[in-house]
Amino acid sequence: MQRIYLLLGSNLGERDQVLHKAAEAISERVGDILQKSSLYETESWGKTGQPHFLNQVICIESGMSALKVLKELLEIENLLGRKRLEKWGSRIIDIDILFYGSSIINEPDLTVPHPYFQERRFAVMPMLEIAPDFEHPVLHKTISIIALELTDELSVHKV
Ligand code: ADP
Ligand code: MG
Repeated sequence: MQRIYLLLGSNLGERDQVLHKAAEAISERVGDILQKSSLYETESWGKTGQPHFLNQVICIESGMSALKVLKELLEIENLLGRKRLEKWGSRIIDIDILFYGSSIINEPDLTVPHPYFQERRFAVMPMLEIAPDFEHPVLHKTISIIALELTDELSVHKV
């Protein structure tokens, strides 16, 4: 069994309901939810002029391989009505794998730890809430230290 940290995000539709449904589907199809952060209202990163996101980090426990988890997550995104239009564009639901235990994965379709984690306040702050002492397997820094070193200035507020 692995502890897997996932980042959920939505900036279209009934965002809190979408996150709730996504978490439900994840617990049914991938594994039990051990922890959930609060919801965070966050300014969109990478592309300006989009509606704000709601983001949440959840920790699940699962025996599935990381690639199988990714496949399930992409299916859940599709079930919830995601349409892939443009990179970093608005979306009903985005589910990213932040960490898969302490594994380092570099596959064509999957990079874990998520390569942008430490650059994104919207990912670090909810992770800090539930796992401040988790050590990043590549940077060898705890989430607390990564949070102190953040330079991303986009706004992130607990709802
Ligand atoms: P983004 O999350 O960067 O906005 P998408 O959600 O459209 O973009 O994901 C595009 C692809 O990113 C996925 O199909 C998946 O193969 C790949 N990917 C690579 N690493 C990860 C990861 N750690 N978590 C989720 N998807 C990932
Ligand atoms: Mg994604």
